[in-house]
Order: sequence, then C-alpha cells, then structure tokens
Amino acid sequence: MLKFYNTLIRKKQIFKPLKNKRAGLYTCGPTVYWFAHIGNLRTYIFEDILKRVLEYNGYKIKHTMNITDVGHLTSDADTGEDKLEKGAKREKKTVWEIAEFYTTAFKKDLKQLNIKPPNVWVKATATIKEQIDLIKILEKKGFTYKIQDGIYFDTSKLKTYGRLRGNKKITLKAGTRVAMVCGKKNPTDFALWKFSPKETKRQMEWNSPWGIGFPGWHTECVVMGIKNLGIPFDIHCGAIDHISIHHPNEIAQAEAAFGKILANFWLHGEFLVLKDGRMGKSEGNIITLENLIKRGFNPLAFRYLCLGVHYRSKLTFSIEALKGAQNSLNNLYQKITKLGEVCPPLICGRSVLPQIDYRKKFLNFIQDDLNMPKALALMWQMIKDKKISPQEKYKLLKDFDRVFSLDLRKIKSEKIPQEIKKLAEQREKFRRQKNWQKSDEIRAKIKKMGYQIEDTKKGPKALKK
Ligand code: AMP
Ligand code: ZN
Repeated sequence: MLKFYNTLIRKKQIFKPLKNKRAGLYTCGPTVYWFAHIGNLRTYIFEDILKRVLEYNGYKIKHTMNITDVGHLTSDADTGEDKLEKGAKREKKTVWEIAEFYTTAFKKDLKQLNIKPPNVWVKATATIKEQIDLIKILEKKGFTYKIQDGIYFDTSKLKTYGRLRGNKKITLKAGTRVAMVCGKKNPTDFALWKFSPKETKRQMEWNSPWGIGFPGWHTECVVMGIKNLGIPFDIHCGAIDHISIHHPNEIAQAEAAFGKILANFWLHGEFLVLKDGRMGKSEGNIITLENLIKRGFNPLAFRYLCLGVHYRSKLTFSIEALKGAQNSLNNLYQKITKLGEVCPPLICGRSVLPQIDYRKKFLNFIQDDLNMPKALALMWQMIKDKKISPQEKYKLLKDFDRVFSLDLRKIKSEKIPQEIKKLAEQREKFRRQKNWQKSDEIRAKIKKMGYQIEDTKKGPKALKK
C-alpha cells in the first residue's frame, strides 16, 4: 500500500486517489529569472521520484507545473522588486527574453537529470485572465481589500487559514524580519494584485478591474491547478519553505473561493544545504548543475546523491559527497555491464528464477513514503547476493531503474559473438540427441573461448565468464 507523509495532517497516510489508479499532481515550478540551483533541483528530483513510484504502482499521472514568469517578488512579504524585472535590468534584456532563456535552461537541467517533464507546463503570464477571475470571486465573497499598492487577501476572514502548518499560528510579525506593506491589515495577508508603480513603467503589466498591474505570486498555482486537475486534486508538492507562506496562501484562496481544499495530499521536500548553512543567492553560494558538469561530474551522480537521502531529511551537499556518489554510480555501471554480458540468446521468454523477495522488498520501501535510501541499499544487497543468478540481477536492476532512473536501462549488454551462439546451438542439438560426449566437447571449446554455457529450466544460456 502506498503511503505518503501528508503535511496537511502531519503524518503518513495511505494514498487514496480521487479516481482509481489515476493521480493528479501539481508541483510548484521555477521562477525563471536565474539558473535553478542544485537545491531547487533536489526538489524536482524528489517530485520525479514520486511520479515514478506512482507509475511503478500502476498509476497514470496527470502532472502540471507552472513557470513563474511574473509577480514573484524578492521578498515573501510582498515587498521588493519583481524577480523577473530585476533579472531583466541585470542582463539588459527584456523580461520576456529573461523568462525564455531561463525556462530553456531549466528544461535542459531536468532532461540531464532524467526528470520527466510534466504533461502540462503553464506560464503565469498565460493565465492572467483566469487569475483576475479568481480575484473577482474572492472580492465578491468579501475576502479582499484594497490598499495603495494593491489588492490583498484578508487572512483574518478565513477561519481555517494556515492549517497546513498543523494549526500553529503563523508567526510572521509585522515590521520584524520582513518588511510590512503599509496598510496591510494582518501580517499574513498577501497580495493578489499589485499595482504598477506610478513613476516607472513595468515591462509586464495588465489591465484589471482594479487598475494596471500584475498578479501576486500565490494565485497562479491555484488557477492552473484547478484548471488542469480540478478541485480538489490528488497531490500538491514543493519544498518545505512553501509550508509557511506559499501553500497556505494557495489553500486559502481555493477554500475562500470554492469552499474546498485545493489538494488532498501535500508533500514537501527538505532543503539541500551546505555545511555552513543554506544555499541562496543572497549568500552568494549557489551551485548549478552546469557547475557540476564543468567539474567533470555526471549529472546523474547528483541524482544518485539525492536518492541516498530521504526527501524529508536535509541533504548536506559537498563535493566530497558528490564524488562518493559518482564512484558508486560508476561502480554500478560496471556491475550492470558485467551482468549484461550474460546473454540469453538461446532461450526465449522470461527468466525462470523467482524474484519475489527483492521485488517485494523494493516495493515495500518505495511505497513507504518513498524510502529511496532503503531501496538503494537493497539494490546493493541484491547485487552482492550470491544466491541469485546474474540474469536475475540484471533484470531486477533494470526493473528498479524504472524508479531510480539512473540510466541503468540504457546500458547495453555486450553481444555474444555469432560464433559462440552457433557452437551453443550445435551443443544443444547434441544434447537433445543425448550425445553427451560431443556436447561436452563443445562446451569445453566454448569455455576455452571465454564463455560458458549455463543450463536453465528453460534451456541453455551462453554467458561471458
Ligand atoms: P523558486 O525557483 O525559487 O521558486 O524555487 C523552486 C523550488 O525549489 C521551490 O519548490 C522551492 O521551494 C525549492 N527550493 C528552493 N531552495 C531550495 C533548497 N535549498 N533545497 C531544496 N529545494 C529548494
Ligand atoms: Zn505554487
């Protein structure tokens, strides 16, 4: 049974989809003003693992991800500059060029990490009308108020506000750590629509019933999630930083407008950190996937590193740790190449040896809130297990890779030469005729040539020694 830790109830819960064997998934996407850092990418790897585990369990997934190309301010308190406008100034490009460039870079990162793209990508700028429509509903229902700098959501009007945080009161305090927008009624209130500043013309701005401006960051995900997946949908993901502000704000809008929870399951990945603390642009310690590739690492070594730490635990990144992951991955590739040399050219059909134990154990681990570290350890245990045949190991590795996605399935087995295949066929003919002497002679000849014949219940197989 599939179980996930649901932040909404703060415990593991059996996954019950809304529709049989189907899962609607929404993952908060990148703000495309700069390259994604490996912290961001850890979150997308966790979400990819979630998808693959669901698929491994027979689910069909409908996945939507947004591209935030407008409205995400440099502070979570609705102050500061729009990150995209800031990026455009920095690079002397248009906002649209910035968004395009970093979206392409992001998609390239995903590809290199074997992260499956969503079924639907949606840009925030492609849903301005829908966002305005949602704000209109909220306004009609009395959840909004207008101040000098925009239209805000009044969190005090919604009794359930902040329940994603386990009923803990949100501790944002006006005027302390974060700057407070002048006129905001409650520290937790958030911008739905921000007015363009009077003195400067923004590159991205739209007309609205309240004036020219742009949407706040928290509305796009609600609109896109509902548009593509309905309300409620099954699973919503992000990293832990979204537990306190972004996701409660999404939930609040959906509950206020439609009286429903936005999603049934809320899964949050822990952060990737550095030994001396958080990775962040302001800390000036960002590492991108390209940085790692330039240092000679296989991007999948980073994926391997992420698999080794449970998604709800902090991952402390270091180059030493990545080197360790790269070595393990190389080792794994070597092992599977050797196992792949086992060739079953003489028989058709499936391997005959039972594989229930490892496959079942693997399933149990991945079903238990995506326990990849245990699944990875099991894989190594299986590789070392002398009781199972090379063919079986090869098959299991390829099967596990449907979830790990470390390119194990792409590794080609070394082809058994035609000559060996012919000899093995001759031997099989003699064996059927019960001509043991001839068949043994051929077996010896094959052995001399560096191969061996293994007789299985389904027939003989030629293997490299
Ligand atoms: P952003 O592009 O800033 O909107 O972030 C994209 C995703 O990465 C969001 O789900 C964030 O919560 C997540 N994220 C940001 N920093 C980290 C980090 N250090 N480790 C893991 N995930 C992160
Ligand atoms: Zn979101």
